[in-house]
Amino acid sequence: MLKKVKVGPVTYQIKPIVDEEQKKKLHGSISPAWRQTIWINPDLKGEDAVDTMFHEILHSVDELMRLKLHHDKIYYIAEALAKVLKENKDLRIWIDEQLT
Ligand SMILES: [Zn+2]
Repeated sequence: MLKKVKVGPVTYQIKPIVDEEQKKKLHGSISPAWRQTIWINPDLKGEDAVDTMFHEILHSVDELMRLKLHHDKIYYIAEALAKVLKENKDLRIWIDEQLT
């Protein structure tokens, strides 16, 4: 399990959503930046898990940069990015090569 994600100056701890009622309702959630926690539903797999992680990261970027992005826009951007990465393995390899 991924333990942490750094977004600009903030390092978020990644924690699973454990409450069963919350798991039924939530894919993920993020605290205000100063509390530095992203919760991810551990039942999510594959593209849904990646989409949710991007979603919470984009909420962080939105907060840190005061972009005031509407939740729906974050939803569509995260979904599109997750899909592009899923459908382009060579792109994932290339990104890793560029950033290593
Ligand atoms: Zn959201």
